[in-house]
Amino acid sequence: MSIAQNLKEIQSQLPEEVSLVAVSKTKPVSEIMEAYEAGQRIFGENKIQEMTEKWEQMPQDVKWHMIGHVQTNKVKYMAQFVNLVHAVDRLKLLKEINKQAKKHNRVIDCLLQIKIAEEDSKFGMTEDDALQLLNSEALTMLPHVKIKGLMGMATFTEDEKQLNEEFSRLKHFYDTHQKAYGFSILSMGMSGDFSVAIANGSNMVRVGSAIFGARNY
Ligand SMILES: *Cc1c(COP(=O)(O)O)cnc(C)c1O
Repeated sequence: MSIAQNLKEIQSQLPEEVSLVAVSKTKPVSEIMEAYEAGQRIFGENKIQEMTEKWEQMPQDVKWHMIGHVQTNKVKYMAQFVNLVHAVDRLKLLKEINKQAKKHNRVIDCLLQIKIAEEDSKFGMTEDDALQLLNSEALTMLPHVKIKGLMGMATFTEDEKQLNEEFSRLKHFYDTHQKAYGFSILSMGMSGDFSVAIANGSNMVRVGSAIFGARNY
């Protein structure tokens, strides 16, 4: 199937309130443009340099989401244009995003990444660490960042019971604190597990290979 057909197929499975981030990492601009021509506007990348190169080449109305682990020293390259940073996991990173956003007179939207997988290769904060950050005095000093919600990556497994447990735990944490912190985005679900994530309350899915085909690494 073509990229446009894949997109249509996936869109048809998403409830209206769920946004689709088309994860275009490693894919060339020509293929990303196929998705753009089919109406897709939100694209996700996991490397800042690659995202920046694509931003320079693609139409200006694309919303670029940084979905990968962010190195503090690279924030400056994306501060001018990034639309949402999904994987914030430390105060130091927020401070740098705030500093760079200020230079461009922007407020950059961020999500805190919560560790929900059992594998230890996945980044993310514990729920306690996240609450500590959200309640911290330091955060009130960062007017150029806005924490809009939470992001999580489940264990890479086909075990639906385990996926349900991991996603529902994050949804519960999200619901418990949504009002107090003004959350509106819960980013969870990828190609292999987005329907389970949506069943558990996700309102933003990050889908790559199901749209663009397998990546060659
Ligand atoms: C690569 C990636 C995705 C998309 O993965 P697919 O399995 O190709 O859909 C989603 N989220 C993050 C954080 C990623 O790095």
